[in-house]
Amino acid sequence: MTGYKDIATPLRTKEILNKYGLSAKKSLGQNFIIDTNILEKIVLAGQISARTTVIEVGPGIGALTEQLAKKAGKVLAFEIDDRLLPVLKDTLSPYDNIEIIHSDVLKVDLPAFAEKHLAEAEEVVLVANLPYYITTPIIMNFLEAGLAIDRMVLMMQKEVASRISAQPGTKAYGSLSVAVQYYMDAEVAFSVPKTVFMPQPNVESAIIRLREKQSKPVELSDEAFFFRLVRSAFVQRRKTLWNNLLVAFGKEEQTKTLLEQALTEADIDPKRRGETLAIEEFAALANILVALNVSFKDR
Ligand code: SAM
Repeated sequence: MTGYKDIATPLRTKEILNKYGLSAKKSLGQNFIIDTNILEKIVLAGQISARTTVIEVGPGIGALTEQLAKKAGKVLAFEIDDRLLPVLKDTLSPYDNIEIIHSDVLKVDLPAFAEKHLAEAEEVVLVANLPYYITTPIIMNFLEAGLAIDRMVLMMQKEVASRISAQPGTKAYGSLSVAVQYYMDAEVAFSVPKTVFMPQPNVESAIIRLREKQSKPVELSDEAFFFRLVRSAFVQRRKTLWNNLLVAFGKEEQTKTLLEQALTEADIDPKRRGETLAIEEFAALANILVALNVSFKDR
């Protein structure tokens, strides 16, 4: 698109906010991007092309949306803040392939949304400069809804990006790493300096890239049980897996015997810490515990 000034510059962002008498709402995690180089890197990381339908969370005043619309077939963007609707109508008027959906992304019925908007899509990519206060629920909602999303390219707090992409045996590895990597391969694509935002956030940021797994790494007999087991294993990180299992399942002799049997069958040393277990090991243990009819203490 020629003849239009990019939204993502300090001057234009200030102009737009002034024109509408707006200031960024901290409570909605509003940190607007004012650097087109970063946006180009995000679009590149998403491998966005005319075949791509992009889902964006939180278009703000349209900085990233605009760069996505230049490359994508279609952009569907969820925005909660009604103050921004007239702004987006104005700033994105040169593009006819953008649909703004005024809603709280956490309240959207995602399967119904997919049926309505994604049925014909060749490939789907989720791209967002996320509102940091709800990074995890947004990602987990999309993953758990089972939408056919090929890739995700997401800006978030650097520390959360490290946790999501962490490997077993590292300090950052935890239930979030397992939860996300159960669905998709995760890598930190690049770090982002605070200076590209207006206003600047208090935390460091990074872009994470998630890619659909070619095959599911593990077969689970009970997904909910698996995720609960994983969370239980990290409740007290400094304790052994065995101690965390006793807290989760109870200390009765019969339970202990079954837990020991399950750990032996799964070939997992009870003295290990949860943070050393790979997803496949958690899966094996979960499947064995389910088969042995071992249930959590508090149901
Ligand atoms: N994409 C813009 C950019 O990069 O300049 C703005 C990103 S800003 C970090 C986050 C955006 O998410 C804001 O526009 C905010 O209003 C929106 N937002 C916050 N909570 C939301 C929710 N629950 N549902 C949809 N959008 C939300």
